[in-house]
Amino acid sequence: MGQRFFVDSPVDSDRVTITGSEAHHVINVMRAAVGDQVTLFDGSGSEFQAQIQSLKKNAVDLLIVDQRSSNRELPSPLTVAVALPKGDRQKWLVEKLVELGTSTLIPLVTERSVAQPVTQALSRLQRTVIEASKQCGRNQLMKIEPPQTVTECIALATDSSRRIFAHVQADPVESSIDHHFSNLPELGVVLAVGPEGGWTEEEVEQFREAQWQPASMGSRVLRIETAAIALVARCVLQDGWL
Ligand code: SAH
Repeated sequence: MGQRFFVDSPVDSDRVTITGSEAHHVINVMRAAVGDQVTLFDGSGSEFQAQIQSLKKNAVDLLIVDQRSSNRELPSPLTVAVALPKGDRQKWLVEKLVELGTSTLIPLVTERSVAQPVTQALSRLQRTVIEASKQCGRNQLMKIEPPQTVTECIALATDSSRRIFAHVQADPVESSIDHHFSNLPELGVVLAVGPEGGWTEEEVEQFREAQWQPASMGSRVLRIETAAIALVARCVLQDGWL
């Protein structure tokens, strides 16, 4: 796949200039020379082969020599609604969600949430989305939605999606993971993971009333990010989803 760089505005002509941290990477980390080729993506789904035309102090001019659409997305959209953990664990979670193909992340604001998602933290996470996409070859960026309450998230999930919430106390029979992930619908899947303090009874009731299915991942209590990644991995490794 070679060195991939992100262009933050749509590539719509054969000349592109990259600036900021991406230019810094080309100039100072890759130590590229005029004539070298790199791969660019702009989040639209396409990938571009580009040749370096000139290197300035903080900018790199490139000529697009080839464009191809390389789809490395899941066959249907996967939305993950999660009460974000704190600090580095948040970044780790976002990185792994991107690698596994998550289409949309909804930061959930729950009754027992500790880390309330703030705009500044969410824009830092956007940088993590770009870095992870560069590394794993995705040409579409995982979308990070504005924070939503459980009520808002439930209202937005469409009727025809498969809707699953991770629940520690879920009854092992009704919450069989195999059952949840068979015949995944084309309209996509929505997964929800609660905060360290767990869902409140009212939240669990809200999910159930809206026909979300509880999913148990065994008798051990997993950290938010472990639960989210285990559930996403189980979903994307489904037959026909690779
Ligand atoms: N003390 C809390 C633990 C929360 S762990 C409680 O008893 O609910 C954070 C979140 O991860 C949970 O809300 C749940 O969504 C998910 N989770 C953790 N361990 C899980 C398990 N074994 N099965 C299903 N979901 C789990």
